[in-house]
Amino acid sequence: MANPATVPVLDYLARQQARHVDELREFLSIPSVSALAQHRHDVRRAAEWLSGRLARAGIDSVRIDDTGGHPVVFARTPLAPGRPTVLVYGHYDVQPVDPVSQWISPPFQPEVRDNVLYARGASDDKGQLFMHVIAAEAWLKTGTLPVNLAFLFEGEEEIGSPHLGDYLRAHRSELSADVAVISDTPMFGDEEPAICYGLRGLVTLEVSVIGPFQDLHSGVHGGAVMNPAHALAELLASLHDQSGRVAVDGFYDDVLPLSEEERQLFQRLPFDVEAYQNELRVPALVGEAGFTVLERLWTRPTLDVNGMWAGFTGEGQKTIIPACAHAKISCRLVPQQDPERIAQLVESHLRKHCPPGVRLDIVRGAGSPAHLTPLDHPAVKAAEAAIEAVFKRPAAHIRMGGSIPVVADFSQTLNVPTVLLGFALPNENFHAPNEHFHLVNFHRGAQTIAILWEKLGAAYV
Ligand SMILES: [Zn+2]
Repeated sequence: MANPATVPVLDYLARQQARHVDELREFLSIPSVSALAQHRHDVRRAAEWLSGRLARAGIDSVRIDDTGGHPVVFARTPLAPGRPTVLVYGHYDVQPVDPVSQWISPPFQPEVRDNVLYARGASDDKGQLFMHVIAAEAWLKTGTLPVNLAFLFEGEEEIGSPHLGDYLRAHRSELSADVAVISDTPMFGDEEPAICYGLRGLVTLEVSVIGPFQDLHSGVHGGAVMNPAHALAELLASLHDQSGRVAVDGFYDDVLPLSEEERQLFQRLPFDVEAYQNELRVPALVGEAGFTVLERLWTRPTLDVNGMWAGFTGEGQKTIIPACAHAKISCRLVPQQDPERIAQLVESHLRKHCPPGVRLDIVRGAGSPAHLTPLDHPAVKAAEAAIEAVFKRPAAHIRMGGSIPVVADFSQTLNVPTVLLGFALPNENFHAPNEHFHLVNFHRGAQTIAILWEKLGAAYV
């Protein structure tokens, strides 16, 4: 049931819909492509537009903070004691637009066709972060905000957030919050609003198998030395067993088992395994026995070879024994696995299984742990209620197989759990030509966020 306090807020959002779309179009027309030096000034302009808009929403504390790269826009509402603090994160930078000839309307001339807004950044992430700004405005103009809000909008997400970690460490106390909410992900499907409460972590390694001092003639030397390409193939093959499990000793020791509740929540999701297989155009899906496809993707750790190279790969034949062979390996991690320990285990496995006659050189990359916000966290409960109030159906509870570095940073640096509440659709062409955002979800997203804050405020009373 909607609380009476939200009635004027939702009314306000309903009355201002046309204006909010016009404003979003203005925001989208600024080509804030963070990857390209020629748009450096435009990225700054987008930050200025956003800070101006936050101020017009009624937030008096708004700053543009320099980071050494593109700036962060930071804003917060006056701290009211006794209310929870919500950290809203989004990014106002966008991906490049090439190939521009494939756009039906120019990427920075936003166009609405059939109630769908087309522009670079429409759904990733300007359109989605703007929902939070207008939800805040709706509360500030019509009543009393039930939560304290801190907005952190960065301009470097699409280039890997190189300065965000330092920024978080430098502003740790200002950014302290009860929960972070991010709208930068899709719903589970059309009419399937989703709460994403878990992400996998990541750790990477690069392995070099070193053989003779240089490539050798395979006629002169073949049969007397270990071929590094063979040794690498043998090593990589040893990393999995026949049932699809990772064969590294201790790899699964710390894995948080899947709860029965989660199993059931995932089973309820309208996930079509056959359609998924067809979409990937593979003759069969494989994976760890005893788990559904979604469970494998979201809740189980994996080890993948991302690349391997050795010897002669040019045209024709060159009969050599290569001097060395290389592979890049990554592991997706799940809650309670420690990236460093996993890298160590994989390294020990490789060293233990390395055949004689070659040496190993292993370089470990940086890792980030998995993230999980408990299903009974007040923010998850509040998001469930808000989604149900607006979409008139229960929220889908999902996890994602990928990693979002900022979420790991929030949890490690700020000790803040994150809920991902996105309103884009999975096929809205993020990073691709003709990126778009269904305006019906833009409006429903803003309403959901406005109600989320009311529910969160109530949860902490
Ligand atoms: Zn994004």
